[in-house]
Amino acid sequence: MYYQSTRGGIDPIGFADAVMMGLATDGGLLVPAEIPQVTPDQLRRWAGLNFQELALEVMTPFIGDEIPREDLRSLIDRSYATFSHPEVTPLVEAGGNRILELFHGPTAAFKDVALQFLGNLFEYLLARSGGQLNIVGATSGDTGSAAIYGVRGKERIQIFILHPKGRVSPIQERQMTSVLDANVHNIAVRGTFDDAQSIVKSLFNDLPFKSAYHLGAVNSINWARILAQSVYYFYAWARVSGGDPERRLSFSVPTGNFGDVFAGYLAKRMGLPIERLVVATNRNDILTRFVHTGVYAVGDAVYQTLSPAMDIQIASNFERYLYFLLDGDSAQVRAAFESMRETGRLEVDAARHDQVQADFDAASASDEETLEQIRSTYSGSGYILCPHTAVGVHAARGMRDVVCLATAHPAKFAEAVREAIGLEAAQPPSLQGLMDKETRCTELDATQEAVKGHLRDALGEGV
Ligand SMILES: *Cc1c(COP(=O)(O)O)cnc(C)c1O
Repeated sequence: MYYQSTRGGIDPIGFADAVMMGLATDGGLLVPAEIPQVTPDQLRRWAGLNFQELALEVMTPFIGDEIPREDLRSLIDRSYATFSHPEVTPLVEAGGNRILELFHGPTAAFKDVALQFLGNLFEYLLARSGGQLNIVGATSGDTGSAAIYGVRGKERIQIFILHPKGRVSPIQERQMTSVLDANVHNIAVRGTFDDAQSIVKSLFNDLPFKSAYHLGAVNSINWARILAQSVYYFYAWARVSGGDPERRLSFSVPTGNFGDVFAGYLAKRMGLPIERLVVATNRNDILTRFVHTGVYAVGDAVYQTLSPAMDIQIASNFERYLYFLLDGDSAQVRAAFESMRETGRLEVDAARHDQVQADFDAASASDEETLEQIRSTYSGSGYILCPHTAVGVHAARGMRDVVCLATAHPAKFAEAVREAIGLEAAQPPSLQGLMDKETRCTELDATQEAVKGHLRDALGEGV
């Protein structure tokens, strides 16, 4: 399988190179040259597989012979052995809703499904190439810890995660700083998240430094993350349908950067019988507005909501969908993003907009509606939703045959849950005892020089 850029500016590359490249070097996103198709017969057979076996089948056509089957199997097995539930992503029933629990990984949020796999995949590919990778990223909370847990203890990988000192929640801070593996470097900068983010950007823009120190990013645009996430759509469908290819099912997906719902779109394009994909957003609703109007326009500000992992202004994976919507015409994708850069908006024509509405439904939920959904699900069933999941359940109300993706464990967002129902969810094992653990973290001024100096000290003189 070959990969190319949505902007058409790179020569086709294989899966391994696409994973190591992350963002395409022409500024676009990497996409497969074609989407493999599953047959009704495969769907029937796959329905009997467990999560790991299914992951092997779903991923194989995207990887081809670049990773021998037994190696891929072992990567997958190791990635999901860290999950506390034997089914990895179990499907439960609560208050008349089907909930797909994606939060049984080490950081209690769905990003573990992709990042546990990506960490093992990086390690495997680096061992083969003899390379090394130094991941640098800034986090306002959740992605940092999932990335750290993805690569902790891995050979040939160091990870440096900057967070704004005192400005992430105590649980989130502890989740990161209590990881004591030698390859994990937590840095608390004396500043804001934006300060941390701009330091990371400036390091990546310093190309000699970036290449001397083998810097790599951790973000939601790596193709391997999308691929790993498409697996649980197949898994949920199989649990509900028993493998009947005629059985169609919808999914409601709490959406920020459009990675998760794009993975659902990919599954649908592969031939999984998905009826509707619901893009569920909070007050930061650029994607909901796009589905309703065909206009993708940046709003004036990012609003802080009770579902912070979805507080985004533009959705980084949206470009992948636009590419497929425009039938893989890179020139049109470039023009659309050019318009986006100049005017802050892009628009698709009426025929494309009809296609968007055939692909997706969309709805957004206010904080009040989010709290009300947590409340009503709890009073109807005793089941506690995290605020992100509640946005998705709210968006799916009135729909039949829908699976709502549960993206985080409710104990991770205890304040919102307490505001809704006056009590907190019991903590999963991964969060227990966190506040008593030993921690390690370096505090630095929020300057590029301070962070660069720290990287040099940790990594030596570069090569
Ligand atoms: C990242 C995240 C989301 C949004 O997922 P995207 O792939 O960015 O759309 C939703 N909920 C939680 C808890 C998250 O961590």
